[in-house]
Amino acid sequence: MNIKKGDNIKIISGNDRGKTGKVIGAFPKELRITVEGVNIKKKHVRPRAQGRKGELVKMPLPFPASRAMLVCGSCGRPTRAHILPGETKKQRVCRKCGSAV
Ligand SMILES: [Zn+2]
Repeated sequence: MNIKKGDNIKIISGNDRGKTGKVIGAFPKELRITVEGVNIKKKHVRPRAQGRKGELVKMPLPFPASRAMLVCGSCGRPTRAHILPGETKKQRVCRKCGSAV
């Protein structure tokens, strides 16, 4: 998985196809990400304390990172990030314009 928190991504499949958003959470172990405004699920919250109302909370749920593509910061196109081999620090590079992302 080469998407990390803070990246801009574009959804390429599923109900939210075509949407773009910022990654707000990455779960590399599960290969899942959460993205602002994508895969929103409504959750009914029961009133916990007396006098409080139950409410409907909308929250983005994690979905498989394979449904998203990284959007390059310099050329603005969705791309597969490529990690340069042989570098000590992992440097992701845009496949299309070659700049670091
Ligand atoms: Zn690029």
